[in-house]
Amino acid sequence: EWKSVKLKHQNDEIGQLVARYNTMNARLQTMFEQQQQFVSNASHELKTPLAVIKSYARLVERQGKEKPEVLEEGLATINSETDRMDHLIRQMLLLSTLERKEGMTVAKVELVGLIKSAIRSISMAFERTVNFNYYQAEVFYPADESQLNQLIYILLDNARKYSENQIDLTLTEQDQQLIITVTDYGEGIPEEDRTQIFNRFYRVDRARNRKTGGTGLGLTIAKAIVVAHSGEIEVMSELGKGTTFRVILPK
Ligand code: ADP
Repeated sequence: EWKSVKLKHQNDEIGQLVARYNTMNARLQTMFEQQQQFVSNASHELKTPLAVIKSYARLVERQGKEKPEVLEEGLATINSETDRMDHLIRQMLLLSTLERKEGMTVAKVELVGLIKSAIRSISMAFERTVNFNYYQAEVFYPADESQLNQLIYILLDNARKYSENQIDLTLTEQDQQLIITVTDYGEGIPEEDRTQIFNRFYRVDRARNRKTGGTGLGLTIAKAIVVAHSGEIEVMSELGKGTTFRVILPK
């Protein structure tokens, strides 16, 4: 009899270890696959502008001397594609810093001023109007200033890219939480895409997004920033009517 008890006991412990090992193994496997997927996507995203640069460089080399228009167009394209690669690489580096939770500098940040300055840069660069409603002239919040700046900029930049009319931004306080919403009245996001848009490189419409200059990393970065501040980000959208992103930050 005792033997069976002992065996059962042994089985319990080993069983637990095996179960724990299996969970860990599955988790590592998923992480590894995600990493591989990232490298593969990143290489692909970088290859596209690189191929364009290469072909224009060839064209300029062959015809640039005789045809000034070829030279001009070629150099302009090489320039813009280089910018595209630069932007993508910067975003990838930023994401990797964020995910390793490195270099976060938390200090008291004044949010109204920060948001106003992000609005200013968007409106100046793209001639778009952003209505900003806030509940208090000054709102101090412990955060990483440059990350929060990025966050607001990404949401405003998306609102601008995927809509044509006004953009509304609100800053409110509710139940010990700060709530920031960015609303646009643009194309909206199909329901089946709403959970995926925060994934790396995910874009609803790849063809269209090449024109708008998207990388598919903006919302991944936005979410990483929100998570680093122990907050949450949600999306509400209606096709053809518009989209609201809501950021909830604990006070
Ligand atoms: P991108 O650089 O392509 O904008 P993001 O990660 O910022 O990448 O967004 C992912 C995708 O989510 C976008 O490609 C777009 O399809 C969709 N999206 C994001 N914001 C909006 C918005 N305000 N309105 C409509 N679609 C949006």
